[in-house]
Amino acid sequence: MKVAFFDRDGTIIEDYADHEWTHVTFPVFMDGAIPVLKEVNRKGYAIIIITNQYIIGEGHITVDQYHDINRQMAKDLKRHGVIIHDIYYCPHARTGNCSCIKPKTGMIEKALNTHPGIDLTESFMIGDSAADVELAINMNIRGFGIGVGSDYRYGNIRELAAIKDLIAYL
Ligand SMILES: [Mg+2]
Ligand SMILES: [Zn+2]
Repeated sequence: MKVAFFDRDGTIIEDYADHEWTHVTFPVFMDGAIPVLKEVNRKGYAIIIITNQYIIGEGHITVDQYHDINRQMAKDLKRHGVIIHDIYYCPHARTGNCSCIKPKTGMIEKALNTHPGIDLTESFMIGDSAADVELAINMNIRGFGIGVGSDYRYGNIRELAAIKDLIAYL
């Protein structure tokens, strides 16, 4: 199984300041994210989301709030024909020294245990943070950074060079 590992916030859906997340009920999709996800699915990749949610451990949102957003996101995506194969999240505070917070590899290792059919040589990671690209480096898989090195708030998933590279790669 080839897998497209996607970051969630700032990549598939809008990201917010940590303290704002508690007011978010409905996820807002990044411009162009849904067509990209559709194309990734169409090319035979299973989509697995790998997301740092230290805002849980740091007290900004509850685990239930986190799951509500996922549920809503998956529902909206399904209506567009996009299937999310699995989601892994790190709920730990940044000071927690856990082994799963990106760019550490714990979440992908967990995915590999759960889904032994994953072929990493055919898989890639995409996200809008340096941690996403570093995770790809740490796993020795292909990585695509969206607006990494610049302020992602000024970019969207459609217009960025990373997406052209990604589509060419698929
Ligand atoms: Mg992000
Ligand atoms: Zn963690």
